[in-house]
Amino acid sequence: MTDTTKHQGQRRQLIKLLEKKGIQDKGVLSAMGSVPRHWFMDAGLEGYAYQDRAYPITANQTISQPYTVAFQTQLLELQKVNRVLEIGTGSGYQTAVLLAFEGVKVYTIERQQELFKKTTLLFKKLKLRPKKVIFGDGYKGYPEKAPFDAIIVTAAAPEVPKTLLEQLAIGGRLVIPVGNKDQIMTRYTRIGDKEFDRRTFGNFRFVPLLKDKN
Ligand code: SAH
Repeated sequence: MTDTTKHQGQRRQLIKLLEKKGIQDKGVLSAMGSVPRHWFMDAGLEGYAYQDRAYPITANQTISQPYTVAFQTQLLELQKVNRVLEIGTGSGYQTAVLLAFEGVKVYTIERQQELFKKTTLLFKKLKLRPKKVIFGDGYKGYPEKAPFDAIIVTAAAPEVPKTLLEQLAIGGRLVIPVGNKDQIMTRYTRIGDKEFDRRTFGNFRFVPLLKDKN
């Protein structure tokens, strides 16, 4: 897929806007500057890829707003050799941003089969290599590969799932929007076996994290 000079110019503008909005982490700005968001948009919407807005994707879901992607990624405080779990693969854009960090290993879970299939194919086409794309329920996390250094939830959780807290390594960070209609961006850092530091970072609006039918 192509990434033209025009796209690159639009992306630079978007990065400038993110900086203006308070994103300071150089790693985040450089990761987002390197990922062509138009590759992850639904057909017909590519022209809007560098607007700082969320857009509809398959199965009534959304590709997150770039500012939100930057904000959550910044809160993860990623380091080389980190093992990261993403809940809500969706379009794959956030996954690609995580993969742009050197040495970071990414596991990502999607609950809707249609999106899971579509985005798995897209990753192949783009030669993007998450460690594993999992079709399953994010509420359960991914115990097979726990503990994780960072867990990012990209859909709204009415409350923080205990399972995800349990799958954090000591020092690990869980970044999750908590709430119903509006959500509060929340970061839990595991500081001991049963001890977590909790901090909040303002309001956001996400599509809901769906409960499994089984
Ligand atoms: N990171 C995505 C955001 C997509 S929106 C992006 O940048 O495009 C949230 C995604 O979470 C949707 O794809 C939705 O299907 C998925 N989702 C909702 N509930 C889930 C659950 N319980 N487990 C895993 N994924 C879930």
